Formats: sequence, structure tokens, C-alpha cells
Amino acid sequence: MADTPDYKSTLNLPQTAFPMKAGLAQLEPKLLAQWEAQELYAKILAANAGGPRFVFHDGPPYANGHLHIGHFLNKILKDIVVKFHNQQGMLCDFVPGWDCHGLPIELGVDKELGSKKREMDKVQIRQACRAYAERFVDIQREEFKRLGVLARWDEPYLTMSHGYEAQTVRELAQFVRAGVVYRGKKPVHWCMQDRTALAEAEVEYEEHRSPTVYVAFPAASDLGALAPALAGKPVSFVIWTTTPWTLPANLAIAVNPGFTYVAYQLGERVLVIAKDLLLKVLGEIAPDELAVRDVKLPAGEGETALSAAALEDPARILAYLDGKSLEGLKYRHVFADRESPVILGDHVTLEAGSGLVHTAPGHGMDDYLVGLSYGLPVFAPVDAAGRFTEEAGEWAGQKIFDANPAIVAKLQALGALLSDPASSITHSYPHCWRCHKPVIFRATDQWFVGMDGEGQLRARCLEEIEKVEWIPRWGRDRIHGMLAGRPDWCISRQRTWGVPIPVLYCEAEGCNVEVLDPAVMDRVAGFMDTEGADAWYAHPASDFLAPGQACAACGGTRFRKEQDILDVWFDSGVSFAAVAAQRPNLGLPVDLYLEGSDQHRGWFHSSLMCSVATRGQAPYKSVLTHGFVVDDQGKKYSKSNPKYVPPEKLLAQHGAEIIRLWVAASDFRGDLHISDQGLQTLADGYRKIRNTLRYALSNLFDFDPANDAVPDAELLPLDRWTLGQLRALTADVRQAYAAYELHQVFHRVLDFCAGTLSATAFDINKDRLYTAKKTGRARRSAQTVLYAVAHDLVRLLAPVLSFTAEEAFGHLPGQKPESVFLAGLPEGGASLDPALDAELAQLFTVRSAVLGALEAARRDKVIGASLEARVSLTPTAALRPVLAKWSAELPGLFIVSQVQLTDADAEVIQVSVERAQGEKCPRCWTYELGLSAAQPVCRKCREALG
Ligand SMILES: [Zn+2]
Ligand SMILES: [Zn+2]
Ligand SMILES: [Zn+2]
Repeated sequence: MADTPDYKSTLNLPQTAFPMKAGLAQLEPKLLAQWEAQELYAKILAANAGGPRFVFHDGPPYANGHLHIGHFLNKILKDIVVKFHNQQGMLCDFVPGWDCHGLPIELGVDKELGSKKREMDKVQIRQACRAYAERFVDIQREEFKRLGVLARWDEPYLTMSHGYEAQTVRELAQFVRAGVVYRGKKPVHWCMQDRTALAEAEVEYEEHRSPTVYVAFPAASDLGALAPALAGKPVSFVIWTTTPWTLPANLAIAVNPGFTYVAYQLGERVLVIAKDLLLKVLGEIAPDELAVRDVKLPAGEGETALSAAALEDPARILAYLDGKSLEGLKYRHVFADRESPVILGDHVTLEAGSGLVHTAPGHGMDDYLVGLSYGLPVFAPVDAAGRFTEEAGEWAGQKIFDANPAIVAKLQALGALLSDPASSITHSYPHCWRCHKPVIFRATDQWFVGMDGEGQLRARCLEEIEKVEWIPRWGRDRIHGMLAGRPDWCISRQRTWGVPIPVLYCEAEGCNVEVLDPAVMDRVAGFMDTEGADAWYAHPASDFLAPGQACAACGGTRFRKEQDILDVWFDSGVSFAAVAAQRPNLGLPVDLYLEGSDQHRGWFHSSLMCSVATRGQAPYKSVLTHGFVVDDQGKKYSKSNPKYVPPEKLLAQHGAEIIRLWVAASDFRGDLHISDQGLQTLADGYRKIRNTLRYALSNLFDFDPANDAVPDAELLPLDRWTLGQLRALTADVRQAYAAYELHQVFHRVLDFCAGTLSATAFDINKDRLYTAKKTGRARRSAQTVLYAVAHDLVRLLAPVLSFTAEEAFGHLPGQKPESVFLAGLPEGGASLDPALDAELAQLFTVRSAVLGALEAARRDKVIGASLEARVSLTPTAALRPVLAKWSAELPGLFIVSQVQLTDADAEVIQVSVERAQGEKCPRCWTYELGLSAAQPVCRKCREALG
């Protein structure tokens, strides 16, 4: 043939400007700029203004440093949830927040200011802290935006904004009205380096080496009345401690009323030691006393009866004494000039020591509590920097840890030290989360929120926990346990950068009574509305008092202002009141809090206490937690991990989109594993989805959904089936979003793209799309479904693959809103035709068998392309009816030229492949009998061209 007509130009070959390669790192900034120029976020809110409301409240990250991968995870998760709700027509306003006060910023400013800080007053230092926080809010805001997070970035909430600070003080006033705020001396975790009290959440346990001493405190009374054998004997009580520096503050020795103690003659002295610990203590202070040198000294537990045989001379046990009977005995302090009592306490255990506990109520929580019940003073002769005060007598001025050896030496010199002066122990010890220095318990004047007492805060919080939906469920147990066991909340801090505690103290000589007055606090808040919290420092105390207000105790009228500030957990804990209750699209209670699982002891915890104290109810209806980022081995993913990749590098390498996909594809309720390999696999999945969209778009270049769409009932069978699968997928995916099963979203969509579409529907439809009559029903039917696939998938994926969904949405034909985020979610549904689905399911099993046979024939060089094949099927009796019914469709289904059904039935379907008969159609490459110069193309092509 001389002139082959140009059939290629008659084919409907795909065309699209939607690129195969995403180029995310370049695409993303363009789309971000587009969204900003469109004012997209405002338009989303406007579109949903009349819809039902879903109140989401953002937990504020700390405005310090650049974002890390944990921040990415958290904010992307929130963004996905918020976008989903907005996509489904709910009004879900994302007001991002920052936690701006507190120690880390103040320390950062200290470092920047250096010695200059000494010449600055409080307000100047506070201004420097504010500028520092503002700087990092700006940095973090840009970093968050880069991830594609749509939120009210221009109107975030800042805990340092004037309005927020004022509301914080108003909330404190509500606490005071509720009767739960009190001032007390109490041992709190204290960092000597940072010179401040630390909250529970600010303490971390690390290994620490401490000296250990056994000390004999001589009894001041004669024990003859308790046991005649002790009459006139020099009896001593043996204590053990790892903090010799607390011995100057010793005010009691506690024994357990349920234990039996022995009086043991050791040399000149008689020592009182718990019976069950005697062998262990002797092993440490006088091993020669033990008869069997290699005796394995049993731990206290299980060793109920004292093994007399283990002692060199059991006769040295002079008496057995009931713990209870020791109460009220007096002993002399080893070096301080005082006598103190033996008291009873259930906190005394047999886990370590001698069964008699050195008690310093100013330096330990158990000691404090047992001391309260005996009316012991809360004595803590240590200053803020960890130096002994004058009250510590001979130790005054020394740093407490440095004084440890001197105190041990003194004990030794006085003959009171029973153990080796060099003994030490490595144990888990509380450290400051900021400076990582060991912390101490130190009693100071602090402001507290009482958990029990008349406010019954603890009991009411525990009740409210039951009304909240905790996702996952174990969150309930975690926060319940933490609240049930927590001490009173110490809300004061001895620092500068925060919200002041507006309490006044009477300055009349010797009075010092405090004015803890909600009306004063509200007046202070009034000034703060316009001036911020600096108003407390800028105004004289008289500005905050009611006209004529005087000291309730003495009538004095001169007052001094409290210098302590509030714990930052109080600031963020009242965010529900300062933000959710104030912003127009939000409200109380909040539908969802969503943070890392460490917030059961942090923000979830403080928010609950604040809301219950001031509003009587939990601030949230549901609380969702996510895990932490770890490497593929489960190790912490931090800068010290050799596999760590800095966030900016991750973004440059993968784009924000793959990071978003990583968040969504992981089951975030556990820890999230990140690795190169994992991200590569996700990028492969991403390409699969992207290619699916591209295939659909590339076949819609001449399709206008308004004019060309085929009604459901007139779709070709395969298209009707595909549409049914799409609707079922949509229903599943919406359900997965609603249940926060985000990993299901990605995996379902990927399976759909790879299986239902790529391997089946697209594979089969390709020839029809390319070769059928351009405007005929067969092609329009396929295009109708491709349009539905592309249109629905981009809307379903938009919350996760926000950039790609927007990009693909831009390439969709037809009338549409300016952004995929204004296009709503597709409706899911059931299959269009269950009977058809059942038949197609049967045909697809035959198809797999045929594809297998074709592959084998290709290997054996019987055929090249599948259209070169003629397939003979010998079906089972069960399959014959459906194959007969669909016989005309079978070549298209298998992408072969001819299919023949043989007459006999087989046990198992038989497929044989041979070369197709006839000539190859030059247009569509199908083989057909009877092609000639007069009839150069196949029947289908004639129709297409006709
Ligand atoms: Zn510290
Ligand atoms: Zn007074
Ligand atoms: Zn043809």
C-alpha cells in the first residue's frame, strides 16, 4: 500500500498539562502563594458559615526554636482533621496558638542579654522576652504554613497578648472565688540553678550518684519502760539517708507502726533497727557480726523471721519492740541542739535503709505530710540558690551538695556515723528538664491550688474524665491515674516572664497579711486589657484597690505587690477560656483536643483542672492523642540519632506532601516510624495515585461534564461497576476520616488506584477511550466515570494530599469553584447494580486466568501484543451462562482480538491461546477477518470514523 491514511490523527490520544513528575518542592510554594492571594482560608469559613460547627482547639507549641518533626506531625494531623470537617460542610475554624511565657524564653533572653540584664528592670526584661517570643512565633508560623496547613495564621492566639493575659488573671480570680487557692509553705521540686519551683511535668528522672549514710541518733529517754533489758543502756535509733545535707533540717524519725524492731547490742551501743532489715544493715555496718560469712543476705521481703543462726551471737538482741510502742520517744539531734520525737508513718517501708526514716518536713513530700499530722514545723534552712541559711547554724553559707562530705565527716567525728564515709549509690533522681541539674525538695512560700479540701477539685475532675471520649481508650486511664495521684498544684514561679499573681501584702509593721481578692484581680485584668501584664509592675498597688480598701487584719493601707508569676501551665490551661470561649466561630465545650500522648500530664491535665475549677466541667468532649516520631528501629528520632535528617532537608527532598502522606499513612495512635526506605515506599504510592489522576485527566481533554456526561442508567456495564466501586470507596474513606483512622484513607485509596482502576477498569477501557467514536456513548460513558474518579478522588484526598489535590483539581474540565477546598466531599453510596457486580466478579476471575495464559503465550513467542491473540475458553458449567451472556464484551475485557467458547464443559476453566485470525486493523491493531483495500479498518473503527 502506497499511502497509508493517517489513522493516528483519528485516535483520541490522551493529552494533559498535568505533569507526570510532581516537582513538589517547586509546586508547593506556588500553591501556597495562590491560596494566600485567594484568601482561601477566609473563603472556606465563609462557605461553611451556616453549617454545623465543629470546635477544634489548638494546643499551643512553645515559641522557642525552630520546628522539629514532632511539630510537623502534630500540626499536619490537626490540619487533616480540620480540612476534613470543612470539606464536609462543617464550620471548623483553626485558630493556631503559641505558648509565649515561661522559663525557656527567659533563659534564652538571659543568654542574649548577658551582664546587661543586671541593669534592666523587670518591665525591660519582659519586653526583651516578648520580642524574643515574637521572633519565634514568626519563624514557626512560616514553617507551619510551608506544610500546607490552612489556619487563621493572621489572627493566632498568643498567651502573651494583652487580652489573653487579662483573661488569665480573670480565670485566676475565678479560682479564688471557687475557694481553691491558698498560700502555703510546702516542699516543691526546686531547681537551684534556675532558682525556681518546678511543676511535676518539668521534672525528669535521670541517674545520679548520692552519698549514703547510716546514722545513729541517741535516744534522749530511757527505754527501760519498754523493755527492762534496755534500762540504763545507751540506745540509738539508726537511720539511713542519701541526702546528708537534709540532716540539719531533721525534725523527727518515723517508724512503721506495723513493723517489729530489734534492740541490738553492737559494741558499747544498742541500736534500734527494723527486725526484717537487721541482717542487711549489719552486713553493711558491721559484717563481722554475721556468723556465716558467705550467707546470701536476703532482701527484706520474704525474710519474715529473723534467722538467729546467721548472727555471731543471737544473745546480742536485747529486745523486740513494736513499732507502735516507739511513738513519742525523744532523741537528740546529732549536731543540732534539739530533741525531736519518734513518730509513726505508713510510708516507712522495708525497701531500703533501716526501717527508721529520717524526717525533714521542709525537704520531702512524705516527710511534709507526716509532719503535718504531728504539727511539725516546715523547716527548710536552704535558700533559692541552694545555700544553707543562718537557720542551719554551723553550715550557713555552704552550698548544700558541697556540704555533704563535711556533714559526713562531722558525723564521723561525733561517732554517729555507722557506715563507710565513702559509701554511695547510683539511683534514679529528679532533674530539671531545662538545665538537667539535680533538683531538690525545698519548702518555700508558694501559691497553691488545692486538689481536695472544700473545692473537691480532684473528685470533680475525676468525674469529668468519665464524660470525655478518650481516643485511644487508654488515655482515660493515664489521665485518671495522674490526677488521682497528683499533689496540690503549685501555681507560683519565682521568675519574671509570665503573668503576675496579683496579690497584695499589707506593709504595716509585722502584719504582712495578703489581699487575695478576686475584685482586685479583676481590676488588674482591666488594666491588662490595654496595657498587658506589665500593668502590674507599672501601676502602684493603690490603683488596684477599691476606694477606701484597707487590710482586713490591721486596717493598714500600704501594700506591696506579689512578685511571683503564674506557672505557664496555668497560662495554657486557661486557653479554652481565653480563646475557645471568645472567638466567634468557637465555643465551649470544645469538640476536640489533639496532642501528643505526653499531654495527659501536661495540657490536657491543666486544661481539665482549670475548666473544672472555674466552669464545673471538662473543656473538651473528646481528646485524641498521637505517638512520637521514632526511627525504623523504634529509637527516638532526634538530632543525636545518626539516621536523623533535619526537617528542612526532609522538605527539600520530599516536599511537604510526602511528609503529609507519611503522617496520614502511619497509624498515629502508636509511635510513628520514619526512615528513608519508608518515605521512598510512600513516594512510590504517591506516584501511583498521581498517575491514576493523570490518566483520568488526560482522557478528559474533550469532555465537558455539563454537556457530555452520560446518566448513571445509561453507562456501559464496566463503567457502571467502576462508579459503584468509587462510591463504596468514598463511603469507606469518609467513615475512616470521621473515625480518625487516617491510615485507612491512604491505604484504601492506594488499593483502589492500583487494583480497581489501574489493573482493571483503566486497563480495559484504554482501547475504548482511544479508538471509539469521539463523541459516541461508549467513550462518553468511560469519560463520565473518569471524571467522577478524578473529581471524587481529589476531593477525598484534599485533606491529606492538599497540594496534589489542588493541582489536579485545577486541571479538571467544566465549571468548578476556585479551589478543591471549596468543592466539598463526594457522597459515598452503595453499588449501582449488585447483580452486575456479581457477574463481573465472575468475569474477572476468568480474566485472571486468561491474562495468565496470555503471559505464557507471550513467553513462548506465540504472540507479542495481546491483541495478536485469539482465546479459546472451555468454561465450567457454572461459568458458561455468564460467559455466553457477555460473549460480545469478552475480547474487550481480555484485550484480545477474538474469543471463542468451546462447546464442552470442563472441571476447571481451560484457556488456550493462538494467533488471532485475519488482518491487523491499522488503526486499532485489532485482528479481523476480511480486511481489504476497500475495507481497510475493522468494524469498530468503521463505526468510530463513520
Ligand atoms: Zn534548672
Ligand atoms: Zn495589715
Ligand atoms: Zn480497528
